[in-house]
Amino acid sequence: MILTKTQLLPATDDSLALAARLLAEGELVAFPTETVYGLGAHAMDAQAVLGIFSAKGRPADNPLIVHIHDRSQLDGICEVNDAAIRLMDAFWPGPLTIILPRKDAVPDEVTAKLDTVAVRMPSHPVAMALLKACNLPIAAPSANRSGKPSPTSARHVFDDMDGRIPLIIDGGESDVGLESTVISLAGEKPCILRPGGVTKAMLEEVLGPVDLAGSILRPLEKGEKALSPGMMYKHYSPDGQVTLIEGEESAVVEALRRLYAHAASEGHRACVMCFTEHVAALADCHPHDIGSKDDPTEVAHRLFATLRGLDDEKMDVIFSEVVPPEGVGLAVMNRLGRAAAFRTVWSMVLYIALESGFMSSDTPGMFAPFNQ
Ligand code: AMP
Ligand code: MG
Repeated sequence: MILTKTQLLPATDDSLALAARLLAEGELVAFPTETVYGLGAHAMDAQAVLGIFSAKGRPADNPLIVHIHDRSQLDGICEVNDAAIRLMDAFWPGPLTIILPRKDAVPDEVTAKLDTVAVRMPSHPVAMALLKACNLPIAAPSANRSGKPSPTSARHVFDDMDGRIPLIIDGGESDVGLESTVISLAGEKPCILRPGGVTKAMLEEVLGPVDLAGSILRPLEKGEKALSPGMMYKHYSPDGQVTLIEGEESAVVEALRRLYAHAASEGHRACVMCFTEHVAALADCHPHDIGSKDDPTEVAHRLFATLRGLDDEKMDVIFSEVVPPEGVGLAVMNRLGRAAAFRTVWSMVLYIALESGFMSSDTPGMFAPFNQ
């Protein structure tokens, strides 16, 4: 691809005017939202949208979310139903993406030829100012290279997109830190395709019962169709191998200690991702603080920056604590599970295996029995 000089500018009236002009001309601009940074293009310009796929290295069959600042923009994009209006009233602007039947004017490049389209109105003031300044619907996936954790700062975007796009608008750290909740209202019953900051309970307060897509906490089964094409792909992965440790708190801390010691003794660049409360107990295990065990919102906020930091440190073996998969914790575990390719060790099983002599800490491939 042709290399472009990438400008990284603070969000000012001038930089937003430049961004709006570039978008209108079919160029790509990365901008902050309250979830993660987005990589935007004019949604009705098929050529511009194709640029997103090449800058990200994104598979063409993974559709994009269209961002708007005013509901009237939806007229040319999708069929709005009563349930959608109730959700928009309750959660827009904010971290909720709604899937609705599309209109023909939307390029196939945006929807990956599906008969639905994803729409969202972000709440970040810089995103809103940009959407207003250009007054265009903007297709914007997360501004990372495909397969990398989503960017929660302009620096992350620069690391992935330098030389690939003309402009990044810096609006500080993203607040939520995980991508938007995606709910489909295009089927018979509302269904959450991707969990995020707007939780199942919050949605059910507005809509009544809502389904959860099956593959949120597990890989797709062979032959299973992804309701949300993004779920087909290995997402959110650092370069190193992440393993999740489940179980009772003290057993998890002990398992982290033993697993770290084993990996370090084999010469790996190893570390643990643990709750603030366990950092002191794991001080010898290269701890990365993922936030308090009682605050999944904080864990969500830090997760992607932590995963990116592991790559910067060239970690190759990482062991992580987990949060209960409820509320925002469900969104955390959806991302963390994928970062670990769903590789999980139950701390009690590890204990019994080590204590009974079934395994010793130098058993080659000691995790293998626990990975299905
Ligand atoms: P990203 O913006 O990178 O967070 O990705 C957008 C997510 O929304 C991906 O997981 C897509 O697969 C999903 N998505 C976008 N449009 C649709 C659609 N029409 N139907 C189902 N999922 C969609
Ligand atoms: Mg993404």
